This record gives sequence, structure tokens and C-alpha cells, in this order.
Amino acid sequence: MKRAERVQAIPPSGIRRFFEIAEEMDDVISLGVGEPDFSAPWAARMAAIDSLEQGKTSYTANRGMAELRAEISKYVRRWDLDYGPDEEILVTTGASEAVDLAVRSIVDPGDTVAVPEPSYISYVPTVRFAGGEALSVPTSQAEDFALTVEALREAGAADADALMLCYPNNPTGAVMTRSQLADVAAFCREHDLVVLSDEIYAGLRYDGEHTSIASLPGMRERTVVFNGFSKTHAMTGLRLGFALAPADAVTAMNRVHQYTMLSSPTTAQHAAIEALRSCDDAVEEMRSQFDRRRRFVISRFNEMGLDCFEAKGAFYAFPRCGGDDERFAEELLRDQEVAVVPGSVFGSGGEGHLRVSYATGMSELKEAMDRIEAFVAEQWSVA
Ligand code: PLP
Repeated sequence: MKRAERVQAIPPSGIRRFFEIAEEMDDVISLGVGEPDFSAPWAARMAAIDSLEQGKTSYTANRGMAELRAEISKYVRRWDLDYGPDEEILVTTGASEAVDLAVRSIVDPGDTVAVPEPSYISYVPTVRFAGGEALSVPTSQAEDFALTVEALREAGAADADALMLCYPNNPTGAVMTRSQLADVAAFCREHDLVVLSDEIYAGLRYDGEHTSIASLPGMRERTVVFNGFSKTHAMTGLRLGFALAPADAVTAMNRVHQYTMLSSPTTAQHAAIEALRSCDDAVEEMRSQFDRRRRFVISRFNEMGLDCFEAKGAFYAFPRCGGDDERFAEELLRDQEVAVVPGSVFGSGGEGHLRVSYATGMSELKEAMDRIEAFVAEQWSVA
């Protein structure tokens, strides 16, 4: 059948190939996927069940249930974000839909979106599906994978129309401080860039509170913030996220949303209301377990000679593998049955690194790290 050129032009995700190999193996430990090993907090699941029992299976308002938008408005105040529930919040089907809606309602064909790399795998395809061009802006371990104004300048981002930002970051686990963000914010104001800020890991910081770029002076009016329930509330399969933006941007995103999605899953919205009302303790418990695992994984990598910078957010470690990352990941999978993702699938700056998700139980993590250590000692020579 005929297929659209702009879809044909995008290669399939590099992560998939590893999962396909892994699926054929019996004893694989996967540190490949970016989702919590926990289930959603019980109270949130109960709220979903109750809503189904009561027959609440209809569409909701396009923008999401008013009750949920009111809870989101209160929730994001912890990051100094002040968004009105009626006009400035849009409930979406995962943060993924929020990113897509923002790109489709802001980016015209031929516009340029600066994308710091290594980057979450969806941004570049999303920009291209909308007819835009993605401009790679490298980040590096020398800067703890923070985005710098120098890198923006050197890449030519002064001429871009928008900047995609993702801190805490997938795949590196990097975070940015308020003052680092303030520099980037000043650059965006000076060169009139819209900021698309994916803050889905805002609740998973291990070194203090998250700062949203939208909370910095002069940034609210040029920023769209994305967040959701997949990571902090372990609700990946319920598919619920949200966007925060000035009213005119939300109206534009809602125009695409109402024709393509109508409304986001109703059952998930009931779960999310309860998640925001009563699940902070459950979220904190998951966060502290991730933190324990994070320390363990990073120190094991450094001990075995794979240099690993201190990731302070999300649930990924991003060690250097001392050679070809694709070969490392493939041989590790075949020889030791541990799945990790080669850093190069995340774009420039990812080469020579591995993305290792520690959203896996401690006993499996210990076994996986033993196997990686054996692989490094016996089969791999660190360059
Ligand atoms: N943004 C980032 C940075 C992610 O890592 C992910 C999932 O891995 C998503 C968005 C997708 O989130 P959702 O499940 O809410 O669509």
C-alpha cells in the first residue's frame, strides 16, 4: 500500500531490535525499558475500579475532567508553576500526546526545533512528522549532560523556532540547576525561541527539588510544560499526561486533540485524581527505592571500570562502555543475557555509552550487575 514519504523517511526505533533479540531468550534480565517495575499506587487503582463499577465509561470534556485539572493545578504549584484549571491545562493521552500536540500546533513545515542530544527517542520523529526540522544540539559528560548556551550557539540554535528540553533527562539521568536553566532561558528570550519542556521526570529527583524553566522570569509565556503519571505514579499503561501552557497555546493544542483523540481515557482520569489526592507517600516510597538502586548501580559501574557520571534524576544510568556501544550491548545480551540500550540510539553524544534503566527490583539488579561485571572482566576490554 502507498505510504507517506515523511513516515517512510523515519527509521524504526533502535531500541526495538534489542527487545526482539531479548524476547527469544529465556533468562534475560532487561535493564532496557523505561518504565517503573512498580504498579500504580493501590488507592489510584481502586479509584479506577470504583469508576468502572459505577459505569463511568463515557467520554470526558476534551480538556479532561474539571476535577482532574483542578488537582493538576494544585499539584504543579510544588514547582512554582501557576496554571489555571479552566484554560491553561490540557489532559492528554500520556505525555507523548502532549508533546505531539504541542509540536503540531506550534511547528510549521520548515520550522526548526533544537533538540539537545542524547535525547529521548520520540522528539526528532515527532518534529519530522509535523514537517519540521530537528537541529541536534550536543550535550556531553564533560558538562554532566546539561545543556549549555555555548552548545546552543555553536549548533546555530539562535535561528531555531523552538527548543525541546528534557530535564531530568532520558537517557542520561542528568538534571539542570536553576542557574544553568536561567542561562538557557536568557538565550531563548534573546532569540525568541518557544520552549517545549518535557518534565515527566520532575518528581524523580534525588538531589533536591526540580526547577521548571517555565517558573523563571519571562519564560511562562514562551513555554509549554509536559508532565504525566507514567513515571512518578507508575501508571505507564493507563496512558495519562498533561500539558501546561498559556491559554492560547492550550486552545491550539486542544484543537488538534479534539479532532484526533476527543478525550483521554476516562478510567485513567479517575485514577489520576486519586493519585494526586492521596498518593504522595506511595510516590515517595518508589522514589526512595529508585534512589537506593541508583547509588548501587552507579557505584558498581565505576568499580568495574565503566566510568559512570552521577545521574541525579529519572531512573537511568549512562555509563561509558569503553568502546562500541552497539557491539557491547549485543554481545552482553548474547553472552550474559542482560539487555541494556546502546547510547548511540539516542543521537549524537550517546556513542560509547549505555542506557541502563534501574527501574528493576534490587535482586535482579544485583544479578544483572554481576553478569555485566563478568562480561567486562572476561570478554570486553575497556579502551
Ligand atoms: N517523555 C520522556 C522523556 C519519556 O522518557 C517518556 C517515556 O519513556 C515519555 C515522555 C512518554 O511518556 P508517556 O507514557 O506519558 O506517554
